[in-house]
Amino acid sequence: MHQAYQRRTTTSARRPAQWWGIVGVVAALCALTLALVPTLPVLTGAVPVTAHEARRLVAGALLIAAMCALAEIFVLHIQVKREAQTLALSEVPVILAVTFAVPAQTIVGMVAGATLAYVLHRRQRGLKLTYNLTLKATDAVVTLAIYTAVLGPASTLTPRWMLAAYVSVAVAALMDGFVTGLVIGVHEGSLSASTLLRGLGVYPALAFGVATLAVVVAFALDRSPVSAVPALASGVFLVVGYRAYAKLSERHLSLERLYRFSQAVTSTPEVNETLTNVLTQAKELLRSEHAEITFFSGMDGNVVRVALSPSGRLLRESVQLDADDPATPTVLGAQAGATTPGPLMMLRTSKDPATVAHLAARRWREALVVPLVGDAGVVGALAVADRMGKVRGFDPSDLRLLETVANHAGVALQNSRLIDRLRHESLHDALTGLPNRVLLRSNALAELTACEQSRSVGCAMMIMDLDRFKDVNDTLGHQHGDELLMTVAARTVAAAGPQVTVARLGGDEFALLVPGCPDGPAAHEVATRVLAALEVPTVLDGIPVQVGASIGIALAPLHAMDVTDLMRHADVAMYAAKNAGGGVRLYESDTDTSSPDRLALVMELRTALDEGDVTIHVQPKASLLTREVVAVEVLARWNHPRHGLIMPDEFIPLAERAGLMRPLSEHVLRLALQHCADWRSHGIDINIAVNLSARTLTDPDLCQLVAALLDAYDVPARLLTLEITESSVMADPDAAIEALQQLRALGVRLSVDDFGVGYSSLSNLSRMPVHELKIDRSFVLDLADSIDSAVITRSIIDLGRNLALDVIAEGVEDQQAWDMLSALGCVHAQGYFIARPMPPETFPAWLRRWDVPQQVPLAREPAEVHTA
Ligand code: C2E
Ligand code: CA
Ligand code: CA
Repeated sequence: MHQAYQRRTTTSARRPAQWWGIVGVVAALCALTLALVPTLPVLTGAVPVTAHEARRLVAGALLIAAMCALAEIFVLHIQVKREAQTLALSEVPVILAVTFAVPAQTIVGMVAGATLAYVLHRRQRGLKLTYNLTLKATDAVVTLAIYTAVLGPASTLTPRWMLAAYVSVAVAALMDGFVTGLVIGVHEGSLSASTLLRGLGVYPALAFGVATLAVVVAFALDRSPVSAVPALASGVFLVVGYRAYAKLSERHLSLERLYRFSQAVTSTPEVNETLTNVLTQAKELLRSEHAEITFFSGMDGNVVRVALSPSGRLLRESVQLDADDPATPTVLGAQAGATTPGPLMMLRTSKDPATVAHLAARRWREALVVPLVGDAGVVGALAVADRMGKVRGFDPSDLRLLETVANHAGVALQNSRLIDRLRHESLHDALTGLPNRVLLRSNALAELTACEQSRSVGCAMMIMDLDRFKDVNDTLGHQHGDELLMTVAARTVAAAGPQVTVARLGGDEFALLVPGCPDGPAAHEVATRVLAALEVPTVLDGIPVQVGASIGIALAPLHAMDVTDLMRHADVAMYAAKNAGGGVRLYESDTDTSSPDRLALVMELRTALDEGDVTIHVQPKASLLTREVVAVEVLARWNHPRHGLIMPDEFIPLAERAGLMRPLSEHVLRLALQHCADWRSHGIDINIAVNLSARTLTDPDLCQLVAALLDAYDVPARLLTLEITESSVMADPDAAIEALQQLRALGVRLSVDDFGVGYSSLSNLSRMPVHELKIDRSFVLDLADSIDSAVITRSIIDLGRNLALDVIAEGVEDQQAWDMLSALGCVHAQGYFIARPMPPETFPAWLRRWDVPQQVPLAREPAEVHTA
């Protein structure tokens, strides 16, 4: 039984203290060996006398060496966590040697056999080889010394001999275990009782088992050499059987890990996360010490290498592609043209100079490289190197496993790149590359939320419209018009500074969001800077063209605390500036005749809540598969005595600013639950969905309120859905998750509203304890006309499927949208095509009409009457 020291150590990486520690162990072993050798009395008697005797002695030693080498090569691997221990059947040759050979033959044979195995098979060199051979020599001498001492004058194959055989190998195994523990301790820099004992454990017991096999073989050999064959064969069968079993169970584990891996990569569409997943899993699956992915970075001949740091962080480095590297054809893949990229095994036994050089350059012992193939062909290469703590290296089945990993990874990476690109495209203007309206609104919302939570002093929103742009377009043509827009975009960005979001809203209209800028003068300064930058003439078609612009500014919190209002006010100011012949204009509320007096409205909202002027409408949600109505969304309405029906977009922001959200939410919840209970008593068991604002979600007693109201109206929690917008969830994901978890524990359903515009981190999303994603209506309204919208809608549907979430599309206005969504595999829909929001009192009658099979609404219902 021999436990070789198999941990991988690179001499350069080993600290000097460890090096000296191991040298010390080697020295101690040498001293022990030299002290014991003279106690072996028969050693001197082994000096050959005749040539014939000499030949016999050498032949005996060679036989022992061969048996020892074989025992070291056909070892059993026992994997304990990441540590590989090897068990050799070396007791068999050792016991046979001490029984039938003279000590000199035994020592020389054992050390020679071990040298063969360590140098040729395990490719050990240097200190590790010295250490392992010294230990082997000490082993031989200790075994012989104990054996001789215990045997005494007794002859072989007696009970006393059996005792001597067992005791000697047991002591040698204990010494082995102790020294191995010591060396591991020195190597790890921590010597403790547990590291010292770690080497002992199960091995002396196993040594006893192997020794028994040796004793049986010795008895058989004594009878007739032939009878030793079946005894040895049974041992060999045991070893072969165990190895096959170990391999099988390892395969099984690999399959299970692979399955978990493919699930992990498909559920995380972010590139970095996918990369981390791929690398971690490749390392685990292949039990390798290194894993890396190589990508082409572009035309400059560089490649990007991505690997994991020991702490699990992604490390990227850009390196020059090495044409002589045998992995290059695989990395270059189809792009190289000449060689077909294939998987590549770089084994430690390889003689190929390029492979040897490459392994040495990377400080690897062995490596596997496979191409990463996505839809568009080879995108890079995935490599693993150095099997962890194993005597066994990589084999062809490992290569197949790595190829499977690479196949999953290639597809996943392509998906995540695609989604990132789509996200980018859906949030940016194609001509100028500036953020578009959606991204601007999302950034503005983040600013306003920060301001609300006093994390920011406020912001300025500016709308900029070019003067006489139409003339340029008409006289110089579209191409020059586009050129001008790009120049304007670049100059505006440069003049406004890095903090400012410059967006293109369409045509010649731009917007600027200046964070941390709550007052007029500071905003004015930015606007003037931009106008000055635009004044410099641009040469188009040889003609210097000077463009002027009008800029309107609205401030938060002074003018509005809602994105729509803020933009509308900036728009009003911009028109005022244009009417005054260009320049910059700050919003003044008295020039804005488009909205009723806000202050008066806020006052009125308070009384409206008390007097029941705030009511609800409901809008059905139906199954795209069965047409069945599965729920209704509750939408707040304000029946204003003078202004008529006011829509929530108008008064919810008011309520937020006036601190009326809590009473408003409670009011709407009560009305909703009341109708739900009423319908239930009439046999209509239908889910009601109520909208919650960001502020309400983080209200510490929200959960208590919901629980109390469910109880009061005797409505089971499963019939209530709460809709929370993606942007409010993602503004503070950790707080949102906590609030959502509490609500989920009540049993209510949770839905992420307006999904797709909030630029969620998808990793955050996968942590959200929600049931439903609601695709924002802007994508659904555009479904037939915009490829981007269609692709995003499809991505959200796929995402929902991967995260096992229901997906509902809102804003379904016609048959075409309905058909497209059901073709994309969306499950639920909501929109004017099914029904416009209606007073809850009329809902049961509507439902009865809808329930008549195959009746699809053809005519548009009348729009909700509202004025503002
Ligand atoms: P939302 O939650 O996204 O509600 C859906 C909005 O889309 C509703 O507008 C609805 O009338 C409209 N809609 C439904 N189907 C279609 C369609 O096919 N095409 C088009 N173009 N629009 C459709 P509404 O009722 O004006 O509500 C506006 C927003 O006000 C809601 O957006 C929601 O965020 C908020 N809101 C409404 N009620 C409440 C409430 O009680 N509490 C809170 N916190 N917010 C509310
Ligand atoms: Ca909603
Ligand atoms: Ca919505």
